[in-house]
Parts: sequence; structure tokens; C-alpha cells
Amino acid sequence: MICKMCTKCRLEKPIDDFHKHHREKDGHRSTCKKCEYEYEKERRLKNPQVQERKNELNRYRYRTNSELRKKMNQQSKEYMEKHPGYKTKINNDYRKRYPEKNTARASVQLALKYKKIVRPDTCEKCGETGRIEGHHADYSKPLDVQWLCQKCHKAEHMKITIQKERENIRPGRVRCIFGGRK
Ligand SMILES: [Zn+2]
Ligand SMILES: [Zn+2]
Ligand SMILES: [Zn+2]
Repeated sequence: MICKMCTKCRLEKPIDDFHKHHREKDGHRSTCKKCEYEYEKERRLKNPQVQERKNELNRYRYRTNSELRKKMNQQSKEYMEKHPGYKTKINNDYRKRYPEKNTARASVQLALKYKKIVRPDTCEKCGETGRIEGHHADYSKPLDVQWLCQKCHKAEHMKITIQKERENIRPGRVRCIFGGRK
């Protein structure tokens, strides 16, 4: 077995632990996969904007390129079929990351069930009827729900996104987990 010493961690490792690289003498990188991964991770942590910009670009591509969208949807469908439980994990992670959203959402559902609050038939902003969704401006006030039509709800989130981008905190899409069902 061919081995090589990593210039970073100074450990001798099998050549397969090094990424291939055509410009290096032996056709492999001088740092091992693990060190490269650590480096990437650190870089991402130091520059969250870089990653966020990449994500933004991907989201843009996804929105505008219908061919790509079809392909990605198909891929993710296949992945889900091969890895049952992955979706639950994602959902659980999301719940762990945004516990306040879930508490707020659950409170509203309970309040609706026991008729403490009523879902109105019209949008609070424009008076539109149809599908009315609950929007939380502040998750620490779970029963402070704004009832909006889909159009106004979308607009409200766009406003938050722009505002967050301006303040430079976690740019990107803000998702309201409480989409109402009629
Ligand atoms: Zn190494
Ligand atoms: Zn509206
Ligand atoms: Zn919302």
C-alpha cells in the first residue's frame, strides 16, 4: 500500500486518504482528506456569508431553471425513497433549531381547537377572502397572530428577509412554519 505523509497533521496515511490532484507530483494533494475537510469547515464557520451566498445562488438557480428544478426534485425524491426517516430527521432538526416557532405554532393550534381564537375569513391587510394563513411577527408572543392571505403573507416575509439582509443577520429566506389550512 502506498502511503503519504500529510503536511498538516503530519500523519502517514494511505494514498486513498488524499484527494486526487493533477498538479501535484504524485497526483494527490499534500493534505489529507480529513485536514481538508476541517479546513473547509473552519472557513465556512469564519465566513458564513460565503456559504449563504452560495445557498442564495442555488436557490436562485432552482427558482429560475425549470429543467434543473425537475432534476433536483427527482433526485431528492429518490434520496428520500432510499433513506426513509431522513425527512423526519430534517423536521426534527428544524424543530430543534427553531423551538420557539414550534411552541408558537402549537399554541395557535390549541387555541384554535378550543376556540380561544378564531381564524377569520378575510385577510387583515387587504380584506381578501380565500386561504388565510397565520403569521407570527414575534414568536415570543405566540397568540399574537396576524391573519393574512397568501399574497400578503408572502409580502410580509419578503419584508422581513430584506430587513434581515440589511441588518446582516442570517440573510436568506425566513420561513413561517405556520401555514394555515382551511
Ligand atoms: Zn492530515
Ligand atoms: Zn391580503
Ligand atoms: Zn409568516
